[in-house]
Amino acid sequence: MHSGKEVHLCVRPAPPNHGIRFRRSDLPNSPTVSGIFRNVVDTSLATVLGSEGVIISTIEHLMATFAGLGVDNALVETDSYELPIMDGSARHFTEMILGVGLARQGALRAYFTVNEPIEHRQGDRWVILHPADRFEISCTISFPHPLIKEQTFSLGVTPEEFTSLISPARTFGFLHEVDYLKRYGFAKGGSLENAIVVDETSILNEDGLRFPDEFVRHKILDCLGDFSLIGIPILGRIETHKSGHAFNHGFLEKFFSQKECWRTRTIE
Ligand SMILES: [Zn+2]
Repeated sequence: MHSGKEVHLCVRPAPPNHGIRFRRSDLPNSPTVSGIFRNVVDTSLATVLGSEGVIISTIEHLMATFAGLGVDNALVETDSYELPIMDGSARHFTEMILGVGLARQGALRAYFTVNEPIEHRQGDRWVILHPADRFEISCTISFPHPLIKEQTFSLGVTPEEFTSLISPARTFGFLHEVDYLKRYGFAKGGSLENAIVVDETSILNEDGLRFPDEFVRHKILDCLGDFSLIGIPILGRIETHKSGHAFNHGFLEKFFSQKECWRTRTIE
């Protein structure tokens, strides 16, 4: 997306309790970085992980795919610091993973369960995690744009719902932002092939939208990726209003500081 380089990506099986890890095969000794909250080093243009001088960028859509499909363990091998943006959605990642199939592993699965709500607020933006006995997410976005305005989408996260309702939703940007990023050397690989681009009144992509509310569905995708950095699945209901990667990251900090609000549980 930002470097404009060709990238190779291979998702390999991994044993129980391995988690999601990224391996940089282009660096000496092929170092790995775990896809967990404490390794997040930047959230300004994309979610970037870093550990001991090794970085891996634009992980959010692949992390969302793992979260949406219930993949706990995988080794992601790549030869660049930036994962490929594909078509701006998680559709290709989802199809590739479902194409080879998932394996059930012989280990108990750990979850976070929520005792009392955890809130992160700033003006009219918020993230709240409520107790629930399954993983649900509800997002609201609000943009002063005639094609977006206010949109809300709610989902009980299952592999089926994720695959059909969320994985095809593409990232979006405003034309003036794209121009600005390109002027400063970012978004070199950015085009109408990998994002919805809107100007003041219309959508520039010839084929239009995949869903009338594709914008908020993509927000759900981003949030799934961000919250998966907690490291193990959550049983709870996440509600977000006007959140973004940096704001979600702020919520995760709060989550880990309010240890009385959650506990871990293993379920077969
Ligand atoms: Zn995104």
